[in-house]
Amino acid sequence: MTYAKKRKALKGVSSNTDLRIMMTFRSTVIQAIIPSLIPMKDTNGKEERITLAHGHGGIASHKLIREAFLSAFSSPELDPLDDAAIIRVPYEKIAFSTDSFVVQPIFFPGGDIGKLAVAGTINDMAVMGAVPLVISVAFIIEEGFLISDLVKIIKSMAKEAHWTGTRIATGDTKVVPKGAADGIFINTTGMGAVRTDSNLSGANAKPGQAVLLSGPAGDHGAAIVCARNDLGISGDVVSDCRPLSDLVHILLNVFRTKISVMRDPTRGGVATTLNEIARSSNVGIEIDETTVPIRDTTRAVCEILGFDPLYLANEGAILIFIDDECVEEALEVCRTHPAAKEAAKIGEVRDDLDGKVVLKTATGGRRIMDMLAGEMLPRIC
Ligand code: MG
Repeated sequence: MTYAKKRKALKGVSSNTDLRIMMTFRSTVIQAIIPSLIPMKDTNGKEERITLAHGHGGIASHKLIREAFLSAFSSPELDPLDDAAIIRVPYEKIAFSTDSFVVQPIFFPGGDIGKLAVAGTINDMAVMGAVPLVISVAFIIEEGFLISDLVKIIKSMAKEAHWTGTRIATGDTKVVPKGAADGIFINTTGMGAVRTDSNLSGANAKPGQAVLLSGPAGDHGAAIVCARNDLGISGDVVSDCRPLSDLVHILLNVFRTKISVMRDPTRGGVATTLNEIARSSNVGIEIDETTVPIRDTTRAVCEILGFDPLYLANEGAILIFIDDECVEEALEVCRTHPAAKEAAKIGEVRDDLDGKVVLKTATGGRRIMDMLAGEMLPRIC
């Protein structure tokens, strides 16, 4: 059955009406108008900066919260500004995930620390089969940080939250003296409603299943490295950073339990994430090097710096473990999504590799791909 036919057949068949309504809602891209009322320049035209007073809970804090954060993040949960957001949760299972973001530089081609913080937590919920509902956002800001940069980051967070239908329910801001932090750090924590028609876990990979990668390996890592160093590479090296909750739920709508594992290969890249899954599932995985999508620009960065692209982080791609007979259809589905046009089958789950991840190289050799040892790139996310 083709993807189009299958979608038609599945129309109206959902085990969870609430989730279906939410998915429909999310499929409409919301053009959010994100205001920010806070002045970014003083009366002399000088750029306004964060001061310690912005973190002291007094007038300056309140002004910052109302005029910068609340004007962009407004939601029924956040607007009362009570000590805790009250959330209605009529779901059997909730996915709950937290992550802190310290990426350097904070603005990079394809994104910024705010987009990354929202996308990262949304993706962690999505790959567990959860529809993201609410997230918290907590900021640690260094004294002297430009208010205009903070507003750019806030707008970027609000935009990603809006289009994925995720509400920002609660938040916090702390300001530390100059030198006590590096610009801005952000923590996001999310809650999502887990679909009742899927069963995803890193421990569920089964021998015979295919391993798909939804987009080119290593693009986020390569973009961060390039943003830190002038490597003289022609062509844009752009991070793949973006939420993928829409792609995940389209795939789950079609394939449901035929997909057993999904995971976003962030720190440590594809190689490390595959090792995590191999260990949890007690299986071997063989990857065919020639089939892994890798952009020429990412390859060039790796050649200059001696990195292996399979160990570089992605922030907008997912590994999908799916029953082998569904591969062609799954790739067809992926390619309808703007972030997964280069999706490919990169390998298979095996029961004869002694729990190892093995790379079949372009020259026909085989080598073990272990977990990343040590830190290849600090502050990548
Ligand atoms: Mg993850």
